Amino acid sequence: MVDLSVVVPCYNEEPVLDRLVASLTAELTDLGRDFEVVLVDDGSADRTLEILRRVSQEDPRFRYVSLSRNFGKEAAMLAGLSRSRGDAVAILDADLQHPPELLARMLPFLEEGNQQVVARRNRVGDSRVRTWLSRGYYRAMNRLSDVDLEDGVGDFRVLSREAVEAVLSLGEVNRFSKGLFAWIGFRTAVVDYENVSREGGETKWRLRDLVNYGVDGIMSFNTRPLRLAIYLGALVSLVAVLYGLWVLGDAIWHGNPVPGYVTLICAVVWFGGLQMVLLGVIGEYVGRIYAETKHRPHFLVAESSESVGRGGAA
Ligand code: UDP
Ligand code: MG
Repeated sequence: MVDLSVVVPCYNEEPVLDRLVASLTAELTDLGRDFEVVLVDDGSADRTLEILRRVSQEDPRFRYVSLSRNFGKEAAMLAGLSRSRGDAVAILDADLQHPPELLARMLPFLEEGNQQVVARRNRVGDSRVRTWLSRGYYRAMNRLSDVDLEDGVGDFRVLSREAVEAVLSLGEVNRFSKGLFAWIGFRTAVVDYENVSREGGETKWRLRDLVNYGVDGIMSFNTRPLRLAIYLGALVSLVAVLYGLWVLGDAIWHGNPVPGYVTLICAVVWFGGLQMVLLGVIGEYVGRIYAETKHRPHFLVAESSESVGRGGAA
């Protein structure tokens, strides 16, 4: 056991890794505790793995796990967490957007009896549109979902061993980690920090990923969208009945001809669209059930610092 493990998921992070390692070594040495760093290569296509091999050879406190392909950040974090051995485990990004200096401010909170210490960034330097969209998203999400998520709070956090075991015990395949971390609960402290831009390389998030991530967040934690579908269906039926009565009354009492074509087409198209959307909602849940029932592992390890030297698989 060591005092502190630092888990870092790395996907094509070649340009920043050396700086990351230097900064981690300096900061963690300053902390004056026993530490290990678990670097997870998430199937990178660049020289990330070679660098990790070299780093762990030069300093055995740096261990690495290399996944057999790109499984995504959630799986990479899970791989790192499951291999971590520290009494406390910190998770941070490879691009130095999660400044290791902050650990010195975060760790004391753990000693005060918190099980999680999360870092919350402000949005300085983010585009206005993105800030605005994120705010709106979190507001909607917190209304829809059973777990509370905060804007600016991400995966940058320190967990006690207890909290790590709790996260590892959640076996779901669709891992929306922000939600999982919130779901496990425990006493949580928040540390604020100034937003920093990426040190090098580039972000893996395109707008499409963000939208998908947002949908994931809403779908992962409850079935409220299904409930909404029921309400919406009931509301639309009610409106249709009222409209039908009105048209009927109009025809009987005022002798107005029943208006037809436009109303009909609009109604057909609109209801068609609505049904597709609602089918999509149901389909999304069915798809998730399908993924869960397969019980596939969350990631496969191709190589790790422990397997090298023993030869063969990890
Ligand atoms: N990452 C990963 N697997 C992926 C995508 C990203 O392990 O498929 C890692 C990446 O190397 C980085 C962290 O997740 O350490 C955050 O990624 P990124 O900086 O691209 O996201 P952003 O900071 O823009 O949200
Ligand atoms: Mg980043």
